[in-house]
Amino acid sequence: MSIAGSMLEAVRAESARHNAHVLAVGVKIGELSGVESESLRFCFEALVQDTDLAPLALEIERLPWRNRCRQCAQEFAVEEYRTECPQCGSAETEMASGRELEFAYMEIEET
Ligand SMILES: [Zn+2]
Repeated sequence: MSIAGSMLEAVRAESARHNAHVLAVGVKIGELSGVESESLRFCFEALVQDTDLAPLALEIERLPWRNRCRQCAQEFAVEEYRTECPQCGSAETEMASGRELEFAYMEIEET
């Protein structure tokens, strides 16, 4: 709930800054961020409803967990917690993406 709340704070700030209505907001959520898209959407819609922010569309983009190999720099999707490099077999890999929780864009209605 607090995530949806702080997202709306940002939308409100943006809306005030441009003195315009925000039509849609896009967010990126990493697979490992611990955020469930459906519950985020539910909270978001519940908070937006009956406010001056409505109608406000939410688009969620899920980012998969990806690691990068320290040996050969190969980037790959991690499936079933297998973090070793599929190219060279090295176990020395580090997270490249998957923990994101960020705004991708906001669509603002010009006035
Ligand atoms: Zn490798």
